[in-house]
Amino acid sequence: MLFAHDTECALIAAAALVNTAGPDREGLPDVAALDGFFTAYGWSGRHEHTDAELRQVHALRPRLRRIWHADTDEVVRTVNALLRESRALPQLIRHDDEPYHLHAVPRDAPLATRMAVEAAMAVADLVRMNELTRLRHCDHPECDNVLVDLSKNRSRRFCDGGCGNRAAVSAYRARRAASHS
Ligand SMILES: [Zn+2]
Ligand SMILES: [Zn+2]
Repeated sequence: MLFAHDTECALIAAAALVNTAGPDREGLPDVAALDGFFTAYGWSGRHEHTDAELRQVHALRPRLRRIWHADTDEVVRTVNALLRESRALPQLIRHDDEPYHLHAVPRDAPLATRMAVEAAMAVADLVRMNELTRLRHCDHPECDNVLVDLSKNRSRRFCDGGCGNRAAVSAYRARRAASHS
């Protein structure tokens, strides 16, 4: 394990949230889609199932995406702003059979606030360990997804959206075309 378990989970969830907003696709079009995301990424605590909550989550995504593009100083400004705006106060807690981990806002804080703070706390870990290069973009030329490389040898190239398979298929076709020419 490279980072604390809650840090790794928060980074993966943040990348997944960023990737729900593509240039020509909306992965969280309605409250039902947000419900699915909530469950898929193991969120718990307050969840209102309202359009207002969905809009707050939508508004968070471009701020998180910037973290994947920005230099360290800008990342730090964003992390500090997210923590400050959310009045983060780190506390170790235990719930739902999980071991002790950090929560920096109460479990009844709005979902978008908790998403912002979890991401900010996790990115703060990366900054402190000088590991921001773990936040990368998918190598597939037609993909603009972000990814978190948690591999030991920093070998991750593709996002979770099936780009690894797509790239393997293209490479296979290219090889086959070459051998038939
Ligand atoms: Zn928790
Ligand atoms: Zn991709």
